[in-house]
Amino acid sequence: MGTCATPRYTTKISNLKNSIHIVDSNRVMTYAKTITSKELKKHLYTFSSDAFEGRKVGEKGQKLAADFIRSYYKKENIKSPPGISNYYQTIPESFFSNKINASENVLAFIEGAEKPEEVIVISAHLDHLGITEDGKINNGADDDGSGTVALMEMAQAFKQAKKDGYGPKRSILFLHLTAEEIGKRGSAYYTQHPVFPLENTVTNLNIDMIGRVDDLHQDNKDYIYLIGSDRISKELHYISEKVNNTYFNINLDYRYNAIDDKNHYYSRSDHYNFARQNIPVIFYFNGEHDDYHEVTDTPDKIDYDLLERRAKLIFATAWQLANQKHRVVNDENNDLLK
Ligand SMILES: [Zn+2]
Repeated sequence: MGTCATPRYTTKISNLKNSIHIVDSNRVMTYAKTITSKELKKHLYTFSSDAFEGRKVGEKGQKLAADFIRSYYKKENIKSPPGISNYYQTIPESFFSNKINASENVLAFIEGAEKPEEVIVISAHLDHLGITEDGKINNGADDDGSGTVALMEMAQAFKQAKKDGYGPKRSILFLHLTAEEIGKRGSAYYTQHPVFPLENTVTNLNIDMIGRVDDLHQDNKDYIYLIGSDRISKELHYISEKVNNTYFNINLDYRYNAIDDKNHYYSRSDHYNFARQNIPVIFYFNGEHDDYHEVTDTPDKIDYDLLERRAKLIFATAWQLANQKHRVVNDENNDLLK
């Protein structure tokens, strides 16, 4: 009988899974419950209203949308991050091409109590397609109003926890990105001009469309697609699974995470700019539907109970990442996988 110098892969994975301990399990749902379909709906009806003219990057409607988000954080007393003037990271016109006007990412920040320098980034894009040539407004309720209002509600939940003395150990940045629809330029700008060093950016949880149900799930609506969760840190993947198994049991559908998936969703939203910097990411997505990038993507078609459940899942995942003992480890540095 020989000795086995390196454990088998399956053993390594089970060791990794066993190393994950859910934190604050009695507390997470207390604050997750403050994320309600009612408030999500209220915010989304405003954010995707005609008043914001389809939120085209650099145009009046997008500026109004950015101001709406900023006003919310001010009212909730959730701060602008240090080094950022009044919640806006301005992207100059010179960064864009095709005569796009200057635009802005909107940032809100909850500082960690124990490891403030380590940051969890939760992102969604605030811009959309604007007005069609024949004058119809692209409301973009799902894309990405759903992600935008989910961030607002999550930030409120973390803020309430902090007020009660249960603030996160690590910091959380709520990053509302502009210019996603013209090629992920807002996240490109952020990752080239990061407000917190990228090496201290623990994870990016990116949300782009979580309020609808696609054709494949009409009979089992309690699902969400996760993309990218196992690419850089398997620990992140198993944390995400364990959080879901502990609190929600939503069907996490990984079909679009296949390396050879022809849709290439992994490279199609803002998380990709973080992944390119070797930062572990999860992309949350409900899949495409008939109203995707059409003027019919309106707030009356959102399933608000589902939006609430999905936002709670992402909130609980962020809570775990912000509060567990060690920061999530990339696979190349993970001793349990060696
Ligand atoms: Zn989108």
